[in-house]
Amino acid sequence: MQSRLPQRIEIHEVVLRDGIQNEKKLVSTNQKLKLIDALTDCGVRRIEVSSFVNPRLVPQMADAEKLWSMVRQRKGIMYAALILNEKGLERAMRCGVQQVGVYVSASETHSRKNSNASTAEAMREAGLLVGKAHGAGMEVRTGVMNAFGCAYEGNIPQAKVIKVVKDLLKKEPDEICLADTSGMANPSQVRKLVKRVREIAGAVPLSLHLHNTRGLGLANVWAAINEGVSIFDTSLGGLGGCPFIIGARGNISTEDTVNMLHETGIETGINLDMLIGASSHFERYMGQKFPAMVSHLAR
Ligand code: ZN
Repeated sequence: MQSRLPQRIEIHEVVLRDGIQNEKKLVSTNQKLKLIDALTDCGVRRIEVSSFVNPRLVPQMADAEKLWSMVRQRKGIMYAALILNEKGLERAMRCGVQQVGVYVSASETHSRKNSNASTAEAMREAGLLVGKAHGAGMEVRTGVMNAFGCAYEGNIPQAKVIKVVKDLLKKEPDEICLADTSGMANPSQVRKLVKRVREIAGAVPLSLHLHNTRGLGLANVWAAINEGVSIFDTSLGGLGGCPFIIGARGNISTEDTVNMLHETGIETGINLDMLIGASSHFERYMGQKFPAMVSHLAR
């Protein structure tokens, strides 16, 4: 059992995208740049810088172009963005984004709310986006939203999720991600789905995007690690949530995840003390207490 655990986990930091997209206080471009620098100083090697979405719907992302033009891209760090459509992809192409994330929802109801399209329509669009992004020399992560259940529909049959995964794999992505968009997953379900997806994904790396809505976030990370997953989306402080999902709560927190990994002997390449420092700094800027727990310990 123990031998199957990955020795190193890659953290894909999403605080600048999922983390703040729902926050009322607008984070300034300058503060975002400071945060990106602080995170890379801590040893984070994958950072989701922004999404390219309608700024009317997600005002927090309105400065995407400005931010990308100012980010000091360091060697060995991957700077990523999320896109929903062709317009978003074209914006990302102009900004020199290294990796774009393209997602399809396994829930018909969420798909319509999120992208105004059925799952099948969203899949066709995703195919066009992946082809075009690859043509522009970008890496593409494709993902399945609501892979573990949906706030609107409840349980999503595994067969439906697997169908979406198989259809996405046909587009030849560089990575496939299972997203627990509203935080419905449990560890037993995670193990089953991850095992199945790894069988069909072959050499395509699998990442997990988890939310801590019901407090099962880290238990789900542990379950996934035991099935060989080595890339996780986390958000500094545990901030986050999808604006199109009722009751969606924070992402799993970067510092709590890193702490658990280090305590269990798994490397992340991240300096936890510095990370907690960066989180407290940002907590003060946002004027609120973040959900992350490890930072509350006296260190
Ligand atoms: Zn999310």
